[in-house]
Amino acid sequence: MIYAVVNQKGGVGKTTTAVNLGAALAERGKRVLIVDMDAQGNATTGLGVDRQGLEICTYSLLTMGATAHEVRVGTDTAGVDLLPARMELAAAEVELASAMAREVRLRTALDPLMQEYDYILVDSAPSLGLLTINSLTASKHVLIPIQCEYYALEGLSQLLRIIEMVKQNLNPALEIAGVLLTMYDRRVRLSEDVASEVRQHFGPAVFDAVVPRSVRLSEAPSYGKPIGEYAPDNRGAEAYRKLAEEVMARAESRTG
Ligand code: ATP
Ligand code: MG
Repeated sequence: MIYAVVNQKGGVGKTTTAVNLGAALAERGKRVLIVDMDAQGNATTGLGVDRQGLEICTYSLLTMGATAHEVRVGTDTAGVDLLPARMELAAAEVELASAMAREVRLRTALDPLMQEYDYILVDSAPSLGLLTINSLTASKHVLIPIQCEYYALEGLSQLLRIIEMVKQNLNPALEIAGVLLTMYDRRVRLSEDVASEVRQHFGPAVFDAVVPRSVRLSEAPSYGKPIGEYAPDNRGAEAYRKLAEEVMARAESRTG
């Protein structure tokens, strides 16, 4: 099952969610692949992979015909593999613009790996450009992190329009798997307000799991570790474990 973690707003917790949900699913015995579709490569470094040491990355997958098996690397987190990204991925956005089958490059590339993983999580850049369209076209599900801050809902109608457009033109199976509230601060009234506004807007699509604002979560990537390894008792670690349970339960209720 492929999930695109998408929100064109920057810094809302997409990468933190891809890495830590992925690790929490792996902790539960699932085989997980993280796909880094952001030239910033935060998911790559956050999983402890040194970008300098890489020969190829998702750029080669999308534009040079490299296979997913060639690009794939392991990580120190058991059960989590990665298709890493380096800075050069930024060029793919432009290079693909005039290419054949430009929207389905990622889908085609991931196909040979599908049977090897229970969950493939695609981390997207803060943009609705061609790379994000590729993420949405390759995926069955969309997971939207929303930060409990001012302007949280800004841009969401545009995001929903793009999802609908991809669904109609490229990927009829695409569905919103859920909306995740992130960086929730229980001491701040605004967090509560945003959370209830998002719940009103999206109803049962919003996950019960809410990711609290936690310094530990922001520190973990600099050690190249998911929160479950860096600070397993932290409330953020707990939230991502709970999210993993919910994602698995929703996935099973859809297939079963
Ligand atoms: P971008 O749009 O740039 O790719 P993003 O949506 O992937 O950003 P993250 O990189 O996951 O967002 O998070 C943005 C910043 O906030 C990072 O420094 C991250 O460590 C921090 N952060 C994410 N989630 C939390 C949290 N729950 N509590 C505290 N800090 C967090
Ligand atoms: Mg990111």
